[in-house]
Amino acid sequence: MLRKNTHPDIKKLVINNNKPLIVCDADEVIFDFMSTFEIFLKSNNLYFNWKSYALNGNILNKNKIAIKDKEVKNILKAFFSEKTLSMPLIFGAKKSLEKLSKKYSIIILSNIPHEFYNARKQALNSHNIKFPFFSNKGPKGKTVEFLANGITKNIWFIDDSPHQIKSVKNYNENINTILFVNNLKLKRLINHRICWDFFSSKWQTNVNILLN
Ligand SMILES: [Mg+2]
Repeated sequence: MLRKNTHPDIKKLVINNNKPLIVCDADEVIFDFMSTFEIFLKSNNLYFNWKSYALNGNILNKNKIAIKDKEVKNILKAFFSEKTLSMPLIFGAKKSLEKLSKKYSIIILSNIPHEFYNARKQALNSHNIKFPFFSNKGPKGKTVEFLANGITKNIWFIDDSPHQIKSVKNYNENINTILFVNNLKLKRLINHRICWDFFSSKWQTNVNILLN
């Protein structure tokens, strides 16, 4: 079951279980997804509506009508196909991960569709970010719980999605979580019931939390 959810097979990963572990999301946490996506939408005569913390329902056509969820999926694929290699990094991501890697093992777990795994891997390499990287499909809880079973030290999960934090907490409430929302327009839209341990909007804050 799990094998189908990650690419490559996360069961083959060997982790140093003497180090604590950080499982880190990519879009909006390492890569500046939203700013890039908004520009991409505009170039396709589409607009992001900033009405809720979701893509579905928020992408409007030029008549200000929300496009259907199936179209959102197609737009997202076109976006990843065109922009995965050139998406800029979130400020502070690279340096902070480097700093944290002295104390922690780091794994990048991204819900980018598996077909764009190689492009994202190439993008990470181009920035010299060389931590183990897996693409994941669906809620991340089960995958992170599997990783948690392999280590004896603390495990941390960083993601910009309250739903993914909730998924991880549902599987194992002892996993430490940071809801990281760097984009200020997105930050204003968070109205979810708090299920995360920490909230942060800057990488420096993550470093402070994780090195204290
Ligand atoms: Mg994300």
